[in-house]
Amino acid sequence: MKGGLVMRDLHFKPIVPLLLLLAFLGFWLLWKNPSHQELHATTRLAMGTLVSVSTWGATEAEDENGVNWVFSRIKEVESWASKQIPSSLVYKINHSPKGTLLEVPEELVTVVHTGLEIRNLSGGAFDPGLGYLVDLWGFGNGVAEEGKIPETQKIAAWLEERNKHHDFGIQWVKTANGGMAIQWGGFAYELDLGGIAKGYAMDLAMESLKLSGIPNALIVAGGDMIIAGSKGGKPWRIGIQHPRDHNKVMAFAEITGDMAMSTSGDYERFFMANGERQHHILDPKTGKPSRSGLISVSIQTSTSIKADALSTAVFVLGMKEGKALIEKLDGVEGMLVHENGERWKSPGFKGQWLEGS
Ligand code: AMP
Ligand code: MG
Repeated sequence: MKGGLVMRDLHFKPIVPLLLLLAFLGFWLLWKNPSHQELHATTRLAMGTLVSVSTWGATEAEDENGVNWVFSRIKEVESWASKQIPSSLVYKINHSPKGTLLEVPEELVTVVHTGLEIRNLSGGAFDPGLGYLVDLWGFGNGVAEEGKIPETQKIAAWLEERNKHHDFGIQWVKTANGGMAIQWGGFAYELDLGGIAKGYAMDLAMESLKLSGIPNALIVAGGDMIIAGSKGGKPWRIGIQHPRDHNKVMAFAEITGDMAMSTSGDYERFFMANGERQHHILDPKTGKPSRSGLISVSIQTSTSIKADALSTAVFVLGMKEGKALIEKLDGVEGMLVHENGERWKSPGFKGQWLEGS
């Protein structure tokens, strides 16, 4: 046994310096090789907007794997939640005869249920059933046009149909195999998950990164973002767009740890008609673009699905009721901007106004 050890020592001794040299060379190459840089950033088009994924500390292969997973999950959500894609489930529900019973996957139940929960919390300001109205204004189907607003009778007919039901007009039915089916309530309840599905997809996207071994990341998709961990021990730095100058940042925040933030603004999609800004956030009570006076609302909370829906809800509620809802909800912070120049942020909101913005 002892002799064997001596033999091995004698045999290996001459190559120790060589091994050390090789190890040093290896470390040097790894350090020089860009595939081991710490920050990776990828931007691709998805969900009708630019989605950028930044990761910290992953190898190039880990980053590529994680990012591919992110985009495939986002595409998956889009494929069933989009109102425009004829093969999507939401399209099928919306184009079925009234009263049709359709079996739906758990994912859709989760998103619609969360939407209805926020609908209740906001007294109907957020509503996942505005599909017909959104199309009437041309925002869901890309036909919005300068100067072209819907006929008053069509909006009135939608409101009238809406007011017939005290509940939401969509029924859930348990199937024999324990699944869920949705019974569609007609044109006044067409689903439009545009104010919530992106947030849901962002949650899945971040979950994919974490499951693929990337705990430090920032994902930004238009006005929605989700953050995890840090950027090499430093916080992720994010900006909030100025609602009246798209080249300007109005506020910024430095964030470490898990957090989601969504911003809803009247500047994201709009056209001018009758001297007014006709934008994509509709007030279900009037059937028209929200005139609450708010022009930008940012919500920070633990999940992107809630941040997304709540930013739209608070936008429609306005300064007073919006503030009250934020203050009522645990773990929800907000930053609100009124067209009259008034600004408010909740004490726990992570971010500061930029001077002169
Ligand atoms: P966001 O940009 O997240 O505020 O969401 C706006 C999108 O949500 C619109 O483009 C519509 O598809 C949909 N939407 C508009 N108004 C509402 C509302 N009051 N409640 C729920 N979804 C809405
Ligand atoms: Mg939203």
